[in-house]
Amino acid sequence: MNENQKKLETTGKFLGCKPLKSKTLDSKTRWGLLFIFALFVCMVMPHTASTYANGEQEEGRATVIYAGGEHQAQRQRSYVANSSTEDTTSPSSPASTRKKWAIIIDDFGNDMKGTKEMLDLPIPITVAVMPFLPTTQRDATDAHRRGHEVIVHLPMEPNKGRPEWLGPGAITSGLTDAEVRERVEKAIADVPFAVGMNNHMGSKITSDKRIMSVVLDVCKEHGMFFVDSRTNYRSVVPELAATKGLPPVRNDIFLDHKYSRAHIFSQMNAVSDWFQEHDTCVTIGHVGAPGMHTSAAIRAALPKLQQQADIVGLSSLINDVWNWRTDPTMPTNNE
Ligand SMILES: [Zn+2]
Repeated sequence: MNENQKKLETTGKFLGCKPLKSKTLDSKTRWGLLFIFALFVCMVMPHTASTYANGEQEEGRATVIYAGGEHQAQRQRSYVANSSTEDTTSPSSPASTRKKWAIIIDDFGNDMKGTKEMLDLPIPITVAVMPFLPTTQRDATDAHRRGHEVIVHLPMEPNKGRPEWLGPGAITSGLTDAEVRERVEKAIADVPFAVGMNNHMGSKITSDKRIMSVVLDVCKEHGMFFVDSRTNYRSVVPELAATKGLPPVRNDIFLDHKYSRAHIFSQMNAVSDWFQEHDTCVTIGHVGAPGMHTSAAIRAALPKLQQQADIVGLSSLINDVWNWRTDPTMPTNNE
């Protein structure tokens, strides 16, 4: 992602309410409104304090619409469904008794701010490198040498946003199946040591079954997993992955979708809270505008969070939860 993207303003939308004319309301209407308000509070409150990646978040720029009505109802259903033990996308208990935290850091490949600080972290992170950029090769190689895991950060068309934010080789909705396949193959070939893939932006593409089916097929052929960044809660990726025998792994928490230091540090508490109820946690942070804060927040949180969970590369978490092993088939210049 380039710097222009990172400068995008948060575009949170809140639907305004017209002022009520209480004098004209009869008691039936008042009770009706009270009921709707109570319903709204019940539905919204559990979510407003969290920034879990359930919402329509476009690459860290929160566009969550806490507006009751359709969006909120769908978020609620999605949240409940995701917690169900029958949901094939929910991780079961890992083999080890220790909880597992996988930290994905997106947007490597363009010498973004915080690159060194992230790679210097004393724990294994999962480094998502964009293909075809000036430091793609360098960042992937450095990450691998330092024991981090590398995945391809594949640019995909969002519902909102300009095409030039995507970066080279992006997957867009107008491509034929053959063109999608060719772009995914080239991206994999361009990022050395990659064992998996996730989406850069992509709120439009990750809800497109035709295109994601091709992307996942190519991943599978290369022995790679695809982790859904969850820039769109309507993503078809986890369910589609499960039908293809791929692990339905996805992001649980965005660490830095707001760039303020205070917010990013507070997200470490969200991770801690998450572990009260879950055995695994997949989080996404970024190099670039929030990179220095995010790397500092992770480092500061280590003493506490390492008591709660082991910090592992994503393939290790996937192996534990779904008993699925990466088997990358591309030459990766292994030394
Ligand atoms: Zn990205």
